Amino acid sequence: MTIKSITLLLITTLGMGILTAQSLRESIPNQKKIDGSYVSNPDKILSQATITQIDTLLEALEKNTGIQIAIAALNSIGEEDIFTLAQDLFTTWGIGSKGKDEGLLILFVQEQRTIRFHTGYGLEGQLPDVVCKRIQRDYMLPHFKNGDYDAGMLAGVQQVLSILQSPASADVVSNNEERLSDYSAFLLFLAIFFAPTIIGIFIYKQYSGKFANASKPAPTPYPAMRLPRWRWLVQVVFIPIAIVTFFSLMDDDNAVGLCVLTLYSYAWLTLFLRLWRMQQVIKSLLQTQDYYAIVEFLRKQTWYWLIMGLLFPLPFLAYFFYHLARRRIYRNHPRQCNQCQGDMKKLNEQEDDAYLSASQQVEEKIKSVDYDVWKCQACESIEVWYYLNRFTKYEPCPKCKTIAYTLISDKTIKRASYTASGTGEKVHACLFCQYEKKSTYAIPILVPSASSSGGTGGSRSSSGSWGGGRSGGGGASSSW
Ligand SMILES: [Zn+2]
Ligand SMILES: [Zn+2]
Repeated sequence: MTIKSITLLLITTLGMGILTAQSLRESIPNQKKIDGSYVSNPDKILSQATITQIDTLLEALEKNTGIQIAIAALNSIGEEDIFTLAQDLFTTWGIGSKGKDEGLLILFVQEQRTIRFHTGYGLEGQLPDVVCKRIQRDYMLPHFKNGDYDAGMLAGVQQVLSILQSPASADVVSNNEERLSDYSAFLLFLAIFFAPTIIGIFIYKQYSGKFANASKPAPTPYPAMRLPRWRWLVQVVFIPIAIVTFFSLMDDDNAVGLCVLTLYSYAWLTLFLRLWRMQQVIKSLLQTQDYYAIVEFLRKQTWYWLIMGLLFPLPFLAYFFYHLARRRIYRNHPRQCNQCQGDMKKLNEQEDDAYLSASQQVEEKIKSVDYDVWKCQACESIEVWYYLNRFTKYEPCPKCKTIAYTLISDKTIKRASYTASGTGEKVHACLFCQYEKKSTYAIPILVPSASSSGGTGGSRSSSGSWGGGRSGGGGASSSW
């Protein structure tokens, strides 16, 4: 195919398109010009009786208010876009007086099963899109679905008239409906967003045990902290969903704000419940004077309360600091000797060295483990408690188990080049028993860094922009 023939084909296709579009517009009679009727009904979709009835109504409307409503009922508009066609008809016919633009075009297309209201600038305030949509949905589509186009069209026109004649009621309708629909959409989004998250957490909680690594400790050894499944479901799934559902059904401007506030307050309350459950655990541990277990229990909750303190600073940020203080309080809490019930005393860092092994002293020195040594004032028996430092770089030594094993050197033995890989050597050593382990590793061959120039990545040309349409194009379409 030559360029010439392609051009010819293009021109023909375009021309035919324009021609069809042109002839379609010409085939829709401008009835007002012909016989003063407001209804263009070339395909005889509406009955004469209905047209007469509508004409009477619309003539009175124009006389009293100057508002013009045109109706076109068509069998088919081919491939044409209903919005474009409505816009073109509106402009060509010039519905509504010049300047005031108080016009409405009601376009019915049977083949597309679509009804469109196209409003002029002057009517956009009185007939906002939501109102148009509502009229179509509530008054016209039910009849159209039954094939009763006369009844549907008449009901729609009557509804439009009732709104135009009592604009105040339309405002109320439109405002409520508009806000409600926006908020409902937002709440729906919340629900859609939260539901999978919650279900995901639930599934994870259900099955995580099966995939969990065997060395992982049980989630919590304290039954008071464990929520039975049904309570967990109620607390984490049903109540939040109920809150969102309640507010999405609520007909109020502030539904979203209230919903978020309620969810927030609800989460806030559940934190108090958790604090209460924690208190039960601590109480039971205090009965056995197991201060060490309390400290460990609190330690495991530290991250949780830091995050909650940031999310709910009042009062949980304050609680977070109390939480930290509490760990110290219980760690240093006066206690009784297991042997003679006499009072015990915690030794200071210098005194306790006498009771620690050489390896423990190294651990304490490098801060991989913190040791507390308690001495009975009566019988002189000793209790040693250890607190692991979770942020230490030291690991247990493979030989002596002292937590003093770490990487001490990492050097390149042979550099990598563009043609060959290199070798590196790592040395791990125990600071207590001096055990050393060397390991070599390969350094990958060098790869020339990809230069950014010469890339063929096409930048997208920014063609097309919105706006510029002075036509307004207000209104709404509904299909059945
Ligand atoms: Zn004692
Ligand atoms: Zn060692």
